[in-house]
Amino acid sequence: MPTLLATWNEPGQVVMDAAVPLIRKGLPMVDCIEAGLTAAEDDPNLIAIGRGSLPNADGELELDASIMDGSDLSAGAVCALRGILPAIKVARWVKERTPHVMLAGDQARRFAIEQGLKPQNLMTGEAVRRYDEWKDSPEIQERYVHSVRDTVTMIGLEGSGHFTAASSTSGWSFKLPGRVGDSPIIGAGIYADDEAGAAGATGLGEELWKACASFRTVQNMKLGMSAQDACEETIRHMLRRQPHSIENTCVVLALDRNGNHGAAVTHGLFHLWVHKDGVTTVEEHATLQP
Ligand code: ASP
Repeated sequence: MPTLLATWNEPGQVVMDAAVPLIRKGLPMVDCIEAGLTAAEDDPNLIAIGRGSLPNADGELELDASIMDGSDLSAGAVCALRGILPAIKVARWVKERTPHVMLAGDQARRFAIEQGLKPQNLMTGEAVRRYDEWKDSPEIQERYVHSVRDTVTMIGLEGSGHFTAASSTSGWSFKLPGRVGDSPIIGAGIYADDEAGAAGATGLGEELWKACASFRTVQNMKLGMSAQDACEETIRHMLRRQPHSIENTCVVLALDRNGNHGAAVTHGLFHLWVHKDGVTTVEEHATLQP
């Protein structure tokens, strides 16, 4: 039976509501995941993904997304994509319709438009209000330092051991224009390899990227660790080697070839959605003790 993991309480609910009925119909996991992320990107109430998410320091939304196929390690990604939804579809098109892995910024947007998507204004009134509030208040700016949550990362297992991983985000709220986090970086935000499993990340992208968190976790599984042990090993490595990961939330989640799943977090509480054996549940993961 297929297994699907998704990150964070609120957006996790939205992606599961869209993806699970498709899993039940027997659609390929890649389509279920794309449908889930598309629904979350389109939801104006989610402030960290797609329409209605929080912009960069110039007041412009820049989206990052990625997708990877564990059967042949093929992957596609976009970063700093403006005014286009769904970013995850564009990432998939990069994988399926170009010889490249990533397209960036204005050229990613041009590619998306050439492939048939229409540019649109993704800022909601609420996002504009929050941006104006942030711009005018040093106190609120302080509150948003490292406020990077609710990216949706999804990993799925189907058939006799095929893995898909994908992620979509607007990244660090009020980031420097042009900043790109871990989510669209293959090996950092996502990784899938049918020889071992799949992993994904969410949280402070700078630290997750430096750790090559998803690749590291899949390599841990390749060395024989279970999904849970592999996640804990990555998070322990981060806690040991990366001082900034200690006070910030950095999460890895994983699925192994035995169908086990796992997650671990450097700091704070993390909610993981799990669809397994036909049942959908939410797990809570607390700070990993070193
Ligand atoms: N990892 C994302 C980034 O740094 C943010 C997040 O997961 O909340 O862009």
